Amino acid sequence: DAPARDASAGTATHCPYCALQCAMTLTPPVGTAGAAGAPGSADGTDGPPVVVDGRDFPTNKGGLCQKGWTSATVLGVPDRLTTPLVRGDDGELRAATWDEALDVVADAAARIAAEHGRDSVAVFGGGGLTNEKAYTLGKFARTVLRTANIDYNGRFCMASAAAGANRAFGVDRGLPFPLADVGGAQAVLLLGSNLSETMPPSVQHLAGARERGGLVVVDPRRSATASLTDDGAGVHLQVVPGTDLVVLLALLHVVWAEGLGDAAFLADRTTGADDVRRSVATWWPERSEQVCGVAADELRRVARLLAAASPARGGAGAYVLTGRGVEQSTQGTATVTAAINLALALGLVGRPGSGYGAVTGQGNGQGGREHGQKADQLPGYRKIDDPAAREHVAAVWGVDPATIPGPGLPAVELLRRLGQPAEPATDRQAARPAGPRMLLVHGSNLVVSAPRSRQVTANLEALDMLVVCDFVPSETARLADVVLPVTQWAEEEGTMTSLEGRVIRRRRAIAPPDGVRSELDVLADLARRLGSDVHFPTDPAEVFDELARASAGGPADYSGLSHARLDADPDLFWPCLAPGATAPAGPDGTVPDAAPHPGTPRLFLDGFPTPDGRARMVPVDHVGPSDDLRPDAPLYLVTGRVLQHYQSGAQTRRVPELDRAVAAPFVEIHPVLAHRLGITEGASVRVESRRGAVVAAARLTTTARPDTVFMPFHWAGTGSVNRITTDATDPISGMPEFKVCAVDVSLAGTV
Ligand code: SF4
Repeated sequence: DAPARDASAGTATHCPYCALQCAMTLTPPVGTAGAAGAPGSADGTDGPPVVVDGRDFPTNKGGLCQKGWTSATVLGVPDRLTTPLVRGDDGELRAATWDEALDVVADAAARIAAEHGRDSVAVFGGGGLTNEKAYTLGKFARTVLRTANIDYNGRFCMASAAAGANRAFGVDRGLPFPLADVGGAQAVLLLGSNLSETMPPSVQHLAGARERGGLVVVDPRRSATASLTDDGAGVHLQVVPGTDLVVLLALLHVVWAEGLGDAAFLADRTTGADDVRRSVATWWPERSEQVCGVAADELRRVARLLAAASPARGGAGAYVLTGRGVEQSTQGTATVTAAINLALALGLVGRPGSGYGAVTGQGNGQGGREHGQKADQLPGYRKIDDPAAREHVAAVWGVDPATIPGPGLPAVELLRRLGQPAEPATDRQAARPAGPRMLLVHGSNLVVSAPRSRQVTANLEALDMLVVCDFVPSETARLADVVLPVTQWAEEEGTMTSLEGRVIRRRRAIAPPDGVRSELDVLADLARRLGSDVHFPTDPAEVFDELARASAGGPADYSGLSHARLDADPDLFWPCLAPGATAPAGPDGTVPDAAPHPGTPRLFLDGFPTPDGRARMVPVDHVGPSDDLRPDAPLYLVTGRVLQHYQSGAQTRRVPELDRAVAAPFVEIHPVLAHRLGITEGASVRVESRRGAVVAAARLTTTARPDTVFMPFHWAGTGSVNRITTDATDPISGMPEFKVCAVDVSLAGTV
């Protein structure tokens, strides 16, 4: 008999996928020599090189979803990249040495910058990179390339929540409280988030609200999460796509009309309440019903349910949570602002057991936006146009603050401008300089995940040089001129910051395959080749220490953290200040020894980090989607995810169990609509927007609205729904409107 596997002897780390960052233990399969340095199975024939077990942790309590359980398979996929690739004169990618590949990249960067200016070399990062990589990428762009043009795919998924929270609270941390706090709530209003499929272990934290009949889900689909409201557990508001903001305006109207708000809280801890009250006066429930499709009585019932749960009225607490369904919109920042206004009106924010939060999606979506890979930010979540922030970070980097460029183009505009010539001024827009000629992509598969992706693909093809760092040949890597094979999660040390602002350790369980290098190493090497004298450490612990110093004094202050401290304590949330940072200096000017800062699990208990310490309420109004229904496009298209796949699917499509479960894109259609269009289950369906058409198999389901079709976005090819999504963006955050556009639907012809 084979000996039993001892999970306690394994490597304690976290899932490579979403922002819940479920805890897991990786152990060598029975019969192998040991975890660290174990060879694994680079060709995938021996099964995954480690075995995954769920590990008890406050967010997942030992649970994992199908993606997490099968995550080790990606470590041994047969097409793992293990050698650099360079496109030859024949147009094909061929194997190259690291020296050759990095010389090609460095020579191109130097030549293109010399010919077209520094901003012609751009960088695109990812929300799955560790904090150390995200920090190093931002530092590399600003100090070596000295380009303003760096942004990342978090612009696709978190920008509106970040903009709304920063404006209201003076800081953005997805959940400003531990997720486990939600478990004690009497009511939870969940807008645009399908937690049951995107992060299933998180659903256990909704149990308290469900038991009290207080779970309210706002979603145009009767999703798996919306179904959690069945049997008296709560209410599903099956809203018209693109009108979530109207639901919130109506709820605010009822709160004020019926005197359900927390007047003392509004007076003591907020500004702008009167303006908001006036702005929602016209959104009475009957008028709102005409726009959002939710019955006026339901809107009143939900407003009363939330108010009854608020501490001000003796309730056990309530949370308002937003997700991509309402944030990926041209009115995403406005919708988040309305959600925050509602939470503030009910006195929920800055009180234990209640609050507003955004449910971050990508694995390091939170940390990824704090450390400098965002076009407008420097490490510590500092604004790049703040002179004091530039001075502080420049001192850590050892450069002149005047040499730090930026802000650059936000992601969608950056992708739109790739390879484009300069444009003169017109009546409608100012003159634009020529777009970037070279792009370095780290941790993003833009061909699948970008809005209006056919145009993005054409722009990538028009570049002089596309460089992709990845561990699998994603659809974007296949377009590249140079592909650099890099390490992945269980092969490297680092940190991630979860949706709660909890900083956690990612640990190495196995050695990477021969030929693969860490991005920290790659960027340090490129910096040398480009003649930079800026120091780029390659040890993740050393990078983290530098990141912590760079963040000191910023909103996301990590200066009290280190890998060693995080190894000893998994319960540390930012801000976590350096010892002595808050202690007064003694008479001799020295700062006395101080106990380590405990971190900050709950923000805003004592005030908001705004100039006057109050939360800012801002009036907003409904405008509607940028691409609304019209006679030739009479149906809404809503996009989203399925349980088995993560983001562009570059990883999960390579896991046989997940691929078998959902192998191709599909179109969810209500049976009544399908009957009218002559579409039957499994039929090939053409979905067409102003940007083109895609084809996928029909799935008939009553979970869809009869005026709406739904498609998941995890695939490339003719069924890749982002080929037809709009690249219109929120005017404040720059976030694209993935979630709704107008389409025509028919039995498939040609695409
Ligand atoms: Fe991984 Fe997210 Fe699934 Fe947890 S919920 S196992 S973090 S994909």
